Amino acid sequence: MDIIDGDEISARVRNEVANEVDRMVRTPKLVAVLMSDDPASETYVRMKRQAADEVGIDSETVRIDPDASEDELLETVEELNADDEVDGILVQLPLPDHVSEERALEAVAPEKDVDGFHPFNKGLLMEGRPRFVPATPKGVVRMLREHGVGLEGKHVVVVGRSDIVGKPLASLLMSRDVNATVTVCHSRTESLEEHTRAADILVAAVGVPEFITSDMVSEGVVVVDVGINRVDDELVGDVAYDEVSEKASDITPVPGGVGPMTVASLLENTVKAARLQK
Ligand code: NDP
Repeated sequence: MDIIDGDEISARVRNEVANEVDRMVRTPKLVAVLMSDDPASETYVRMKRQAADEVGIDSETVRIDPDASEDELLETVEELNADDEVDGILVQLPLPDHVSEERALEAVAPEKDVDGFHPFNKGLLMEGRPRFVPATPKGVVRMLREHGVGLEGKHVVVVGRSDIVGKPLASLLMSRDVNATVTVCHSRTESLEEHTRAADILVAAVGVPEFITSDMVSEGVVVVDVGINRVDDELVGDVAYDEVSEKASDITPVPGGVGPMTVASLLENTVKAARLQK
């Protein structure tokens, strides 16, 4: 069994980004809009900003009181859209219940939408001419490629159909750049294990700790675990790592797998946004 090392592969990607930033005349700038006191959201924003800092990208957190109105959030995003110094904008999710996530994500100017969550960018991805691919799917595909996993013609089974992971990953995998054959499963899928056992490559994006067990996979499968679940203060993936790794040919660990690739892909998107701004 071979471990797909997200720390090592993402370091390579970040290095590429740092070299690109070095060659740019103007330093790119990423702004995170944070409307939450949730410690996990705070941590994610801090990690993204630290990673930006390390590759020479400027960053800022714009905080909005979680009790403030939706209008206040939308106005803040509008101001950032109009600010020539700002290249990339991300609205950290989840938002408070009284704020529409849909309206917030649609407010971000598509050319600054480094998360790739604006409907326009989602549409481009579905059409097979992606501009900003959401960071996690982008990181997953890059990681598999860098690890030498062939995707063309392979059967990739994705468990999870969320707007931020499962769906965009399926679009990317079936694009003419990648040419995988894709099955997407979700909570209403019947005989899930028949699908997962048929996978050459299995991607788990379920949000349930250790959901994928060894009886659900075939010998020699490549396993990508997107899950990040906090269990007793420890991070656990969506795959029962110990038992599944005995059957898998290659597997991503948690932590140190998809997580760092997601951050690296966000940095790539920010550089792309800066080039678009120009
Ligand atoms: P969501 O909760 O939005 O989606 C989960 C998906 O899993 C849904 O499509 C759901 O089906 C499906 N699902 C849930 N239970 C089952 C089941 N019993 N059988 C089959 N399918 C099921 O989660 P996200 O996509 O946002 O995230 C998934 C995981 O990835 C989480 O652990 C999250 O923390 C992690 N994550 C990690 C990132 C990283 O950088 N590594 C980035 C983003 C997320 P249905 O649609 O029918 O409800």
